[in-house]
Amino acid sequence: MTKSVSLFNTLTRKKEEFLPLKAGHVGLYTCGPTVYHYAHIGNLRTYLFEDILVRTLKRAGFEVNHVMNITDVGHLVSDGDHGEDKMEEGARRTGKSIWEIADYYTKVFFSDLGKLNVLKPQIIPKATDHVKEMIELVQSLEERGFTYNTNDGVYFNTEKFPTYKNFAKIVVENLEEGKRVSMGEKKSATDFALWKFSPENEKRQMEWPSPWGKGFPGWHIECSAMAMKYLGQTFDIHCGGIDHIPVHHTNEIAQSEAATGKRFVNYWMHGEFLLEDSGKMSKSKGEFLTLSVLERDGFDPLDYRFLLLQAHYRSSLKFSYEALSAAKSGRETLVQKLREWKDEPDLNLSEIKATNIWVEKFEKAIFDDLNTAEALSILFSLVKDNTLLPKEKKAIALSFDDVLGIRLKEKITEQEAEIPENILSLVAKRDEARKAKDWAESDRLRIELQSLGFTVKDSPTGTKVSK
Ligand SMILES: [Zn+2]
Repeated sequence: MTKSVSLFNTLTRKKEEFLPLKAGHVGLYTCGPTVYHYAHIGNLRTYLFEDILVRTLKRAGFEVNHVMNITDVGHLVSDGDHGEDKMEEGARRTGKSIWEIADYYTKVFFSDLGKLNVLKPQIIPKATDHVKEMIELVQSLEERGFTYNTNDGVYFNTEKFPTYKNFAKIVVENLEEGKRVSMGEKKSATDFALWKFSPENEKRQMEWPSPWGKGFPGWHIECSAMAMKYLGQTFDIHCGGIDHIPVHHTNEIAQSEAATGKRFVNYWMHGEFLLEDSGKMSKSKGEFLTLSVLERDGFDPLDYRFLLLQAHYRSSLKFSYEALSAAKSGRETLVQKLREWKDEPDLNLSEIKATNIWVEKFEKAIFDDLNTAEALSILFSLVKDNTLLPKEKKAIALSFDDVLGIRLKEKITEQEAEIPENILSLVAKRDEARKAKDWAESDRLRIELQSLGFTVKDSPTGTKVSK
């Protein structure tokens, strides 16, 4: 049995109860990175929101089949049909081959996600491994009369798809494309490339033969082809950043539904932006903010995760080092508190979960369109609840972490392990002195521990130290 989860669906602009196509199962597609550069922390926010979605659905009892693509060809600098391929540009910038930079930045990307404790998707298809499927999809659109050719590619004719503007609620007059760049031979501003021809005067590192000549796929067709290959023509949830709504996801819907005649996706979810507060971010002025930069500046990647959890995924969040520092101390206080409660949780957790009011509150928050901010504040209130035993609270807190993903259990033991041998032996001596009621010796050892930089607290189970 699964629990009820409500999600905000971009398709209807409403919060709706999530009803999967197949009971107990979720087919989820999330747009992956274009692996031509390091990921900015703002991009990472989207992957974190998607991770919370996956963990929440699992908590509600669903089995999640998560597919995330790797774009290693066809994403042009403009996000539309103009400019250089980002991958070709990355290769030129670094003096390496496209395959080398794709490999390198893919590894860095997954290392970033690992540091943020983002669960790895089950299927991670690469665009360059699916060119055949993309060509087939373009062919079926061609057969159904949705395409036309220009001198630089095969284009989707958006006029043939009357509901094109519904998803983004696009006002065509506002489209600036026609003003800024030439439309070339495009029939209307919203038409987009499905397949681009290799330029005659330029040798691309990546190109494939096709029924329309040598070339490469458009960025949008990649996601449709890979999503439908692994999840079927209609599937449950598709996610991305809000910037994907007007072009990338609108185009995915048009080409997929035109090709199959079926609804492509039932629930679309989009994460808001991370804003940079340039006034206060003097430390990072002019710097491209990556996770490594935050680490260099003394933060744990989980501090960033903690910061993001404090805001709802549909609210924009202003990043500053002050906010990150506050998140760091919040996270450390929590870990410290749980660490003090030495007793291992030996209670029957499922019994506590079934009856505990905190569990109920937590799930109510998280199942209500992933309200992580509320869920975090419930965790802090739980910690302060003196009607529960510390070991009960600890067991419940650790179970919340299945969704929050701030590695509480690991961090508690990590801090314990950081206490050196000589300190632990002083702690043991002090416990002996206290047992023998030798208060003078016990005080002396407390002062010695403090002089070595440790905080000393007494508890029913003995001396507790922390840095
Ligand atoms: Zn995509």
